[in-house]
Amino acid sequence: MKALTYIRHGEFALMDKPKPALQSPRDAIVRVTLGSICTSDLHIKHGSVPRAVPGITVGHEMVGVVEAVGSEVKTVRPGDRVTVNVETFCGECFFCQNGWVNNCTDANGGWALGCRIDGGQAEFVRVPYADQGLAKIPDGVSDEQALFVGDILATGFWAARISQIREQDTVLIIGAGPTGICTLLCAMLKNPKRLIVCEQDPARAAFVKQHYPQVLVCGPEECEAFVLANSDHGGADVVLEVAGAQNTFTLAWRCARPNAVVTVVALYDEAQTLPLPEMYGKNLTFKTGGVDGCDCAEILRLIQQGKLDTTPLITHRYALSEIEQAYRVFENRLDGVIKVAITAG
Ligand SMILES: [Zn+2]
Ligand SMILES: [Zn+2]
Repeated sequence: MKALTYIRHGEFALMDKPKPALQSPRDAIVRVTLGSICTSDLHIKHGSVPRAVPGITVGHEMVGVVEAVGSEVKTVRPGDRVTVNVETFCGECFFCQNGWVNNCTDANGGWALGCRIDGGQAEFVRVPYADQGLAKIPDGVSDEQALFVGDILATGFWAARISQIREQDTVLIIGAGPTGICTLLCAMLKNPKRLIVCEQDPARAAFVKQHYPQVLVCGPEECEAFVLANSDHGGADVVLEVAGAQNTFTLAWRCARPNAVVTVVALYDEAQTLPLPEMYGKNLTFKTGGVDGCDCAEILRLIQQGKLDTTPLITHRYALSEIEQAYRVFENRLDGVIKVAITAG
């Protein structure tokens, strides 16, 4: 089968590889019907994910059809349409039992697919712990509607969940990239009084204004003053930092009112400083990533009910045979791309 492979620092290539086989009674083999490219894939390509293993098939955002299951798999059967979770988790250890599946103590716990084990920018993928790693796509939900459930939408859903958003709140989301927009959509489900998005890129800011006209949009330079003018208690009640840029961590806590929750979803390239003397008396609560991706069934129900729709994020479509071109467009942010969808073939 064709599989996009991490060759070495800076190089991915579409290669012929053997089709994956079941390795454990809890595995499933999934025929990938639609996939995507994530910024984390680019991080692997550029060597900023040291645990990524050269030779592995990359890709961790995908949906497909179950082809085969091991003897201990209970929740899915061959022929089922499924979303694939970015995270591998056993469902049984202390962390899994508490819903902290990102910290699963299994050897492959956390983000393994397309990083430490073969992923899904390929025709087929082996999914360990299939009962945890797959969720059945309900009738009436298309592959494109379900495409982001296992990764960026799971992240946005988790971020909104742990941020304790209330209906009287002003919520600031920093960053309107794909994960920022998923976070925005999930924050909307909590019906806060105001939503403010801070985004530097004019095309991304325009996307938010066009699709979500009820959301206030500002740039990073005016953000602090804008939030002060558009909140009731001297700052945002909840801040979600999804940008991970040079000064966005500082911006996040500075825009927060006293006793706010600041949730850091972003993955930074560099260490950030927490200047405690400057924030003394602000009594902030910080929450940090990564995603506990264990809400996929609930997210799929919300999509089926028409309460979540990420299809506007899909701006470009390519076949698997054209995936190198898709990377070129996604990586260089050409042609107004937000997310690409990779079809089989
Ligand atoms: Zn990802
Ligand atoms: Zn576990």
